[in-house]
Amino acid sequence: MSTLSLVIPVFNEAEALEAHLAEIRLHAEQTGLPCRIILVDDGSSDNTWQVCRRLPNVEAIRFSRNFGKEAAILAGLRATREDLTIVMDSDLEHPPALIPKMVELWRQGSYQVVEAVKARRAREPWYRRLGARVFNRGMRTLAGVDLAGQSDYKLLTRETVEAYLDLPEANRFFRGLIPWLGPRRAEIPFEVPPSNRRTRWTFSQLVSLSLSALSSFSYVPLQMITLAGFLTFVGSFLLSLYVLWVKFSGRAVEGFATVILVVLFVGSITMISLGIIGGYLARIYDELKRRPPYVVADQRHPD
Ligand code: UDP
Ligand code: MG
Repeated sequence: MSTLSLVIPVFNEAEALEAHLAEIRLHAEQTGLPCRIILVDDGSSDNTWQVCRRLPNVEAIRFSRNFGKEAAILAGLRATREDLTIVMDSDLEHPPALIPKMVELWRQGSYQVVEAVKARRAREPWYRRLGARVFNRGMRTLAGVDLAGQSDYKLLTRETVEAYLDLPEANRFFRGLIPWLGPRRAEIPFEVPPSNRRTRWTFSQLVSLSLSALSSFSYVPLQMITLAGFLTFVGSFLLSLYVLWVKFSGRAVEGFATVILVVLFVGSITMISLGIIGGYLARIYDELKRRPPYVVADQRHPD
């Protein structure tokens, strides 16, 4: 018989974790498979770790500080050895009722990944919705990766988990890298239930996640620099023709405004370009340092 593990990152979830986990376990049991739950406490500042230690039949890993959800997923996946692994949020925004359905779908076909895809986003504030749209559109046009509706709620077979763990990079983007591996995929649509609490993500975390996702999948921003350079070159060429014409036709030099504009324009393009190059350099530097993506402070095995 196949075995199942659940990888669940948790960050400051103390109040509701026990109830949520009971619900998740209930649905996991419906699969009829022996199931192991792996909680990764991403450096919570509340009582989450105490709860994790106290809960029966869970394995738990605690980070020394908040390293982010991607690192937590990675640590959880490293702790698995089961034939099937499901990665999900702990706040029931990933409906646990899908667990048996995902396993059923895996049984039916020779799928390597079963993904829960957001049919409709939950009632979110407009700026988050807009942010998600801009990000998904950017990823689609710049990186050719379609992430609309994609979530981190996925069932993975052992071979997919191993392929994911074999990737060399320290900075990962789970929901983009899994499709990148090219597994045979099936989808289950779901509606995100209205949130029972505020999101754990800060605005700057979301921006940095988006930028890191984009730069790890696309070189288009770097290529845009070349394009911008080319366009400014053509512009300056036309402008120089005009300037020469003005000079040789004997008219007084009136071009102060033009000069200022050109300096500002070229200067801003240069700075944006340097910023983009800097962004990629920082990522290369990050990978070169070969620092671990997280540090484990404590661990707990079920008794
Ligand atoms: N999470 C985490 N580290 C973080 C932020 C979140 O491990 O720094 C976990 C969190 O406990 C939850 C999941 O990632 O299980 C999704 O987080 P949240 O519900 O806050 O995000 P949203 O649903 O808004 O995407
Ligand atoms: Mg959530």
